Amino acid sequence: MVSALPEIRVRCAIVGGGPAGMMCGYLLARAGVNAVVLEKHADFNRDFRGDTIHPSTLELMSELGLLDEFLKLPHQELREIRGVFNGHPVPMADFSRLPTQCKFIAFMPQWDFLTFLSAQAKRFPTFALQMQHEVVDLVFDGDRVVGLRAKTPNGERAVYADLVIGADGRHAITHTRGGFELRDFGAPIDVLWMRLSKREGDAPQSLGFFQHGKLLVLIDRGDYFQVGFVIPKGGFDEVKQRGLRALQRDIVQLGPFLKDRITELDDWSKIRLLTVQINRLRRWCRDGLLCIGDSAHAMSPAGGVGINLALQDAVATANLLAAKLKQGALPVADLARVQKRREFPVRFIQALQVLIHRRINGRTSGAGDKLPLLPRLFLWFPFLRAIPARLIGLGLRPEHIHSPQA
Ligand SMILES: Cc1cc2nc3c(=O)[nH]c(=O)nc-3n(C[C@H](O)[C@H](O)[C@H](O)COP(=O)(O)OP(=O)(O)OC[C@H]3O[C@@H](n4cnc5c(N)ncnc54)[C@H](O)[C@@H]3O)c2cc1C
Repeated sequence: MVSALPEIRVRCAIVGGGPAGMMCGYLLARAGVNAVVLEKHADFNRDFRGDTIHPSTLELMSELGLLDEFLKLPHQELREIRGVFNGHPVPMADFSRLPTQCKFIAFMPQWDFLTFLSAQAKRFPTFALQMQHEVVDLVFDGDRVVGLRAKTPNGERAVYADLVIGADGRHAITHTRGGFELRDFGAPIDVLWMRLSKREGDAPQSLGFFQHGKLLVLIDRGDYFQVGFVIPKGGFDEVKQRGLRALQRDIVQLGPFLKDRITELDDWSKIRLLTVQINRLRRWCRDGLLCIGDSAHAMSPAGGVGINLALQDAVATANLLAAKLKQGALPVADLARVQKRREFPVRFIQALQVLIHRRINGRTSGAGDKLPLLPRLFLWFPFLRAIPARLIGLGLRPEHIHSPQA
């Protein structure tokens, strides 16, 4: 293959510098595996990234000896999740009893998290990060994936690796070019993504406002709110036809305190459509290629757990493969162990997300202004709040760092 740039030869090439890719790159490099992460963008500063750093991730940071430094980065600590159902605030998840050091979700712009992780990874001589490297194809030797081709501002580059890890998210080229079979579970919702300013005197915010089947999510980003407004799938054209004022009204109906700043949304260019998917590969690997994170199983924002699952996949990958990968190429049976380990937690959470979607999209959240039964249960039986706390904060089968440190 002709390449404008010198080719790279590594033990492991990781496609995508999101949570899964950066954590995987960090852990493999820490174990002495020569690893390169290829990220198509020039930086990590994109608006649509989720901002949640879960207690399980903070626990991993502690196991890696990075927690104190990490928590010096600006963040907010969310110790309880409250939903507002038809105007009634209800505590839904209480993290105070989790068996973790940090009993909170840290809200931090994901670009800060990724920048931190990449800075830590760069301390290992076995780590490299190539920004503005968009992977456009895989390279095969017979049936085996032996590398990839990346488009860069300076021309095309070939990368050869004993293992390619696809961590390239929901629209992954690795799973399409890898010829994997994808099972789509359908997501009946999309999200409109925008910013509204924070004002002095704003009360600490709940995350979700539910009303008659509508949902508004607010993420506190220090000086502004990231606003997510859920709409039916494919419904953006209709929203546009109804006009900006109607959208402003819908948002204020769910979050009345936003009335004094809603006119900041005065142009459609300030409102981005994020498409939601839930899908999963039937097989996550083939000879020379393993997909993890959203590339193997695209997660909906429902519950805010996709980042956690992506990171947990990365930890499992390093735990199961790092020591052997350091010696050379791995048989596909070894790669399959990652899917075997991670598929159950993913299936469980995706099933819950499908249920949540049905609830948001189909049924109304109770008649009139009444508090629906499900949230009412959290008021009657506070101990129930431990269940969502555990699912969101830790997930099922939480991973711990067992990969070696070279
Ligand atoms: C609207 C929305 C809001 C969400 N909010 C949350 C939340 O608050 N909390 C939460 O836990 N989850 C949230 N999620 C889910 C979460 O975003 C994903 O589950 C998570 O980001 C998956 O991480 P990942 O590393 O697998 O993939 P991604 O985060 O998608 O990262 C993939 C990376 O690969 C790069 N890439 C893609 N293609 C290529 C290529 N060809 N070459 C090189 N690089 C490439 C991308 O630029 C990106 O950096 C949300 C999802 C949506 C749709």
